[in-house]
Amino acid sequence: MSRVALVTGGTRGIGEAICIKLKEKGYTVVANYGGNDQKAQEFTERTGIAAFKFDVSDFAATQTAIQQIENDFGPVDILVNNAGITRDGTMHRMSFEQWDAVIQTNLASCFNTCRAVIEGMREREFGRIINVGSVNGQAGQYGQVNYAAAKSGIHGFTKALAQEGAGKGITVNAIAPGYVDTDMVRAVPEDVLAKIIRTIPVGRLGRPEDIANSIAFLVDDESGFITGSTLSINGGQHMY
Ligand code: NDP
Repeated sequence: MSRVALVTGGTRGIGEAICIKLKEKGYTVVANYGGNDQKAQEFTERTGIAAFKFDVSDFAATQTAIQQIENDFGPVDILVNNAGITRDGTMHRMSFEQWDAVIQTNLASCFNTCRAVIEGMREREFGRIINVGSVNGQAGQYGQVNYAAAKSGIHGFTKALAQEGAGKGITVNAIAPGYVDTDMVRAVPEDVLAKIIRTIPVGRLGRPEDIANSIAFLVDDESGFITGSTLSINGGQHMY
């Protein structure tokens, strides 16, 4: 039986590319999404992949939904924490709601989903967890104290959980994408985006598939010696 992979925020953008790639690799893929039913329905029609609506920032809802997914499809062996939002603004204008929404959706969600699957992974002595960070969590970004803090938190979360899972066959890695051509980046004003592209040595935005390919590698059964790492996928924009 093929391993079950759950991809949060899997119905569009980077998440959709991850779902498609993992399905191609033979996994049983389940996508999650937050609220955009129409996009989710189109996604399922396009890909044949089931999509479950639940808010990853809601602890109780996430436990219930993942239990349901495991009842329907089997134990989740691969978890990709990809769901994320931006609510940009400079600190002196940012509301508590902007701060809190980004921390809850991008960072607290990793606790909520991992908590739901980690005991099963430990019992089965196998797991692959990928947390989607960001170049802006590594380097910071003007107007994004909330997003940079959440993504930077993901990188620490990853290393701590990697230590806990290492003896139990569970690997936990983060990826740090640079700017990728999705709805999230299309929301950036054109002139700002043009400036950003000039800082990317490869000379273009990333494609969702660039990210998906790396994730397929990290979740492979044969990648069991890679854990606690952060893979930068940013066209050379930020190297360290
Ligand atoms: P998109 O905005 O294109 O898609 C976001 C996905 O997350 C959608 O499926 C959305 O569902 C889902 N989502 C949002 N909020 C919730 C929630 N509360 N509960 C469940 N699902 C939710 O994002 P991208 O594909 O651009 O980004 C994917 C990830 O990659 C994010 O974590 C982002 O921070 C990160 N990233 C993106 C970069 C980029 O340049 N695009 C760069 C670096 C990192 P729905 O459709 O229902 O809203």
